[in-house]
Parts: sequence; structure tokens; C-alpha cells
Amino acid sequence: MVSWSEGSSSSWDDDSVTSHLPWTISCYEWSGIAHELSSRCMHLEPCLRQVAFQSTDTGRCFLACAKEKAEEKCCYLEWIDPEWSDAMQFCIGQLWRMHDKENEDRIRDNLKLGEENFKIIGEKRRMEEELRFFKLDFEKMVADKEEAISQLGSARLAMSDLKEEIEKKKLADHSSTNLY
Ligand SMILES: [Zn+2]
Repeated sequence: MVSWSEGSSSSWDDDSVTSHLPWTISCYEWSGIAHELSSRCMHLEPCLRQVAFQSTDTGRCFLACAKEKAEEKCCYLEWIDPEWSDAMQFCIGQLWRMHDKENEDRIRDNLKLGEENFKIIGEKRRMEEELRFFKLDFEKMVADKEEAISQLGSARLAMSDLKEEIEKKKLADHSSTNLY
């Protein structure tokens, strides 16, 4: 069993060494490599100062492996702050629950909004399709009307030709009867 500096709760064969590292939040007061401390990670290198941002450990300072690449990090974890009091843990727990609920509500709202958008897009497509058919119908109607008008025009021309023909015939008949 290796013993650590004051306030330390970890050691090589301690459970916490192999436990998962908590999520962290950047903190101006507790950051950077702790060269001045005797703590060393499993690489036997000075540790990185970190602040937990997860569950009831939120806000607790700890030391962890300073390797930059996640895959190179060892799972060393040494708590600097002791566990919060029960009252404090209860309060932090409540805050996280409120945060989680708000997130869930937001996700649910976004989902609902997405469904509504999907419905509106479907409606728009349907209306565009209807409009397309309406335009086709309308074009056909106009074409039919134009055709009818031109037919009427031809009929009128034919009628006037016929009238002219009749007038001519009448005149011819008249003149021929006058000869007798
Ligand atoms: Zn390490």
C-alpha cells in the first residue's frame, strides 16, 4: 500500500484508482500541472489539477493523469477535496435532477417541433402537387376554349361566305328573270 500526500484518498491498490474519472469543468483556481505536489500518476509523472462536474462530486478538486491524449491517460484519480456533507450532496443532486429534467423537456419540445415541421412540409408538398394539377387543368381549359373560339371564327367565316354566295345567287336569279 502506497501512501499519498495529505488529503489524498487514493493509492495504487485503492479502488478509486481504477474508478472512472468524473467529467470535469475548467477552473481558474485549480488547473495546470501540479509540479509542486508529490503526487504521481501511474506513469510516475506529476498530475493535472481538475475539478469534477458530475453527480454529487460536482465542484470537488482532484488530481488525474496529465497525458493530453485520452487513449494515453492512465486512470489515476486522487481526490483533494473530501466528499461534500450530506446536505450539500442533496442540494447538488437536486440541481442535477433539475438540469436533467430541463434537458429532457427541451428534447421533448424539439421532437414535437420536428414532428410539426415534418407535417407542415408534407402539407406543403401536397398543396404544391394540387396546384400543379390545377395548373394543368387550367391550361387544358384555356386550350379548349381557344380551340372553340377558332372553330367559331371559322364557322362565322363559312356563314358569311355562304351568305355572300346566296346574295350573288339572288342577284343572278333577279337579273335572269328581268331578261324575260
Ligand atoms: Zn498517467
